[in-house]
Amino acid sequence: MKPVSNLSQVPFVDGELYFVPLGGSGEIGMNLNVYQCDGQFLLVDVGITFGDDSTPPGIDVICPDISALRSVREQIVGIVITHAHEDHVGALHYLWNQLKAPVYCTPFTASVARRKLGEAGLLDQVPLHQVLPGSHLQLGCFDLEWVTLTHSIPEPNALVIQTAGRCVFHTGDWKLDPHPLEGDHYDDRRLLALGESGVEFVIGDSTNATVEGWSGSEAECHKALLEVIAKQPNRVAVTCFSSNTARLASLGDVAHETGRRVTVLGRSLFNYLQTAKSTGYLKNFPELVPTEDLDYLPRSEQLILATGSQGEPRAAMARLAKGEHQDLLLEPGDTVVFSSKVIPGNEKKLDRLYDLLSQKKVHVVTEKEAPIHVSGHPCRDELRWMYRALRPKHVIPVHGEERHMAAHAELASELGIGSARVVNGDVLHLAASGATMMAKVATGRLGLSGSSLVPLNHRALTERRALADGGLMTLTVVLDKKARLATEPQIQFVGVPAGEMDPESLLSDLQYAVEELLSELNSRTLQSDDALRNELQREVGTLIRRWLGVKPKQLVNLIRL
Ligand SMILES: [Zn+2]
Ligand SMILES: [Zn+2]
Repeated sequence: MKPVSNLSQVPFVDGELYFVPLGGSGEIGMNLNVYQCDGQFLLVDVGITFGDDSTPPGIDVICPDISALRSVREQIVGIVITHAHEDHVGALHYLWNQLKAPVYCTPFTASVARRKLGEAGLLDQVPLHQVLPGSHLQLGCFDLEWVTLTHSIPEPNALVIQTAGRCVFHTGDWKLDPHPLEGDHYDDRRLLALGESGVEFVIGDSTNATVEGWSGSEAECHKALLEVIAKQPNRVAVTCFSSNTARLASLGDVAHETGRRVTVLGRSLFNYLQTAKSTGYLKNFPELVPTEDLDYLPRSEQLILATGSQGEPRAAMARLAKGEHQDLLLEPGDTVVFSSKVIPGNEKKLDRLYDLLSQKKVHVVTEKEAPIHVSGHPCRDELRWMYRALRPKHVIPVHGEERHMAAHAELASELGIGSARVVNGDVLHLAASGATMMAKVATGRLGLSGSSLVPLNHRALTERRALADGGLMTLTVVLDKKARLATEPQIQFVGVPAGEMDPESLLSDLQYAVEELLSELNSRTLQSDDALRNELQREVGTLIRRWLGVKPKQLVNLIRL
């Protein structure tokens, strides 16, 4: 099916409900889901994803391309953010100017969103409405209910969306944690009641659909952290996801239980601690010791919380590992605990960090050595529990890569529930008989380059990759009115090693080759900028490839006097 560029080109029928994922289906990250009914659009989540080895150099943040919404912007009745993780709220301040619709979320998420919007100078412009967990709201033709679940951040919400006679349960991110430590328990009574009243569609989290069993509880994680930290004779530094308030609460308790004082390193930890406290969480979290006071404490009484659980080079943990942190030097006999999972793609970065720490004779504990991390997403037994409670007629797996969504669909069919597969851009009609794909809209990825959002396939970014892969050669040729060389050709290399060759003779050999070429070309080629540039690129490119075995990007400047 050929994608249309705009949602206004899709032949939506009034009185019917449609679902269009623009991000987060077929990938983990940058969730952005659209519901359409009676000419109105509801957005659920506006998230980012992070760059990896496959993205152009310098692109760390990626947003979904929402140009398909451009022509229907005025019909957007609201943007609901289910919870405060970056893959759900992280693109709000980058994309809001293209949406300009009111935003609805629960208080913790609102506090995180407010900080991001404030940093982007948008706080005064965005109508940000706080909704209490468990409440109802009518947005245009959409009747919405927030249902409390558990996850790895405060206030994870599912949304019940009712309109056009349909009832959709949009899970957001969730797990079933019987002891979440911080925040509310999942609302099992409401889930069972919804099953009684009739849920037709579940649109849900597939992240752990390939994993059997249960994801485990934050309480078990607390126990394991206590066991690990209690055994350490010296300083302990722990890194975890800064937004995991329950984990921070556990670490605060463990500090108390092991007679340690807590110091925090890294801005995002300070931000989330502040957000959590200001919204009523982390009530028993110990008072922090300023880093400059650490010297007064024996190492055995120190617990350091540091950002950078994924080996991010600028975060506190990477600096500690390299011995470059301005406030603290780890010493032999200290312990570093990674209370987090390794996000695929970060393995090499983290292995380097573990090696650096080992070189310093710092003991490293990861989730491989002890159960000090639990996932925030439902494993297969939790999915089974949810579907037995909700008894949906159809499941649409989202929030996963293909294999996760396939495993999710297969689990639904094991329970006798129908399923439909989607990827970003599919327009699904949600009817009583099931979901059918009726159109496709264009989607894509935009990389954040400085303050601009640029399509990842934009020429500037493909050029950037080519520069990073092969370096650059510039050739400047100045010609007089008769198209003869007015000066020596100027050649420069950036990021291209001369290898076995002497750099001086490489340049002079190339200069000579350019002079020879110009003397041999006919006047028609010499008079045409395009033809001359092509000839120069071909000749010089062939020689560089032959002599150095590389293909740098070439920039040929022609100057005619
Ligand atoms: Zn999440
Ligand atoms: Zn997520």
